Amino acid sequence: MAAKRDYYEVLGVDRSASLEEIKRAYRKLARETHPDHNPDDPQAEERFKEINAAYQVLSDAQKREQYDMFGHDGPRMASGGFGEAFGGFGDIFDVFFGGGQRRSTGPVRGSDLEYRLEITLEEAAFGTEKKITVDRVEACDACGGMGVASAEGMQMCPVCRGAGQIRQVQNTLLGQISTVTTCYRCHGQGQIITDPCRSCQGQGRIQRTRDLTVRIPPGVETGTTLRLGGQGEAGMRGGPAGDLYVVLKVREHAVFKRDGLDILCEVPISFTQAALGAEIQVPTLYGPEKLYVPEGTQTGAAFRIRDKGMPEPNGRRMGDQVIQVRVCTPTKLTEKQKDLLRQFAAAGGEKHSEDKSFFEKIKEFLGG
Ligand SMILES: [Zn+2]
Ligand SMILES: [Zn+2]
Repeated sequence: MAAKRDYYEVLGVDRSASLEEIKRAYRKLARETHPDHNPDDPQAEERFKEINAAYQVLSDAQKREQYDMFGHDGPRMASGGFGEAFGGFGDIFDVFFGGGQRRSTGPVRGSDLEYRLEITLEEAAFGTEKKITVDRVEACDACGGMGVASAEGMQMCPVCRGAGQIRQVQNTLLGQISTVTTCYRCHGQGQIITDPCRSCQGQGRIQRTRDLTVRIPPGVETGTTLRLGGQGEAGMRGGPAGDLYVVLKVREHAVFKRDGLDILCEVPISFTQAALGAEIQVPTLYGPEKLYVPEGTQTGAAFRIRDKGMPEPNGRRMGDQVIQVRVCTPTKLTEKQKDLLRQFAAAGGEKHSEDKSFFEKIKEFLGG
């Protein structure tokens, strides 16, 4: 197909033509070139399509702005440039009556981002620094986020002459109605980009992958959220960047469980250690510690080692290490060990009196 003609040229209007002028030119040309009126002219249909394509773009403020910036190969058009798509006159009426969309015109703050980070219990206790990689939109370096290639690339909007607004006066049955609308061409900014930045296609922003370092203070827990101000997505039209929120999750530990500021740990001890008492080694977040288990210790007994738990975030208080002992009944005894235990029992180490009364009670209960 032949090179596309400039849309303004197709409609025979000036580049600064108002929407009203574009509509008028289109109606006139559409009537003249309509294939029904030109049954003998094979070129009329092509021409009719061309006029419609031009109108579809120039009558839509957003498409027109992109066309002004990039010509026929609009790089921002998700649907692949300005095709010949023409959906019949229904589309045109949409454009005639309220098809124009409102857009925010001032600076817009960038979006906040969220990053989920898993850390170990030790890292939560002592604090650490973590490297994370985030995908975000950043201000374009080449144009400083302005979207223009040169100082002259930004010019006063020819439609509203920099005012950002258009006043329209309509004659109606009720008299003259004056309405002020946001300029369709510059979207209220009063300026348009005539020389877009090559790096960011005039967007002023670029998608980037960034490595960041997150400092994690001691005492954090699952759900703790760290805010990295200004590390979110870049703002638009000079707006500030959003924030990055790092949401922490503390991984489950092999031996420790957390209970507020305390750290719990279950430690097995032998039957003889429990009976006779013993000094044992127990783990804490800060390394092994000595713990004295007194004689006659029962399974489930808990011992506290002060200030060996989690630190309070931003505080001076420390939690404790809580050691809960579990008495292990010996298995796989040698004959000699069994013999010694029998001697132990015979020596009165096992008192059956309480057991007996317990069995008496069961008997009574059963009516024996
Ligand atoms: Zn304007
Ligand atoms: Zn740029």
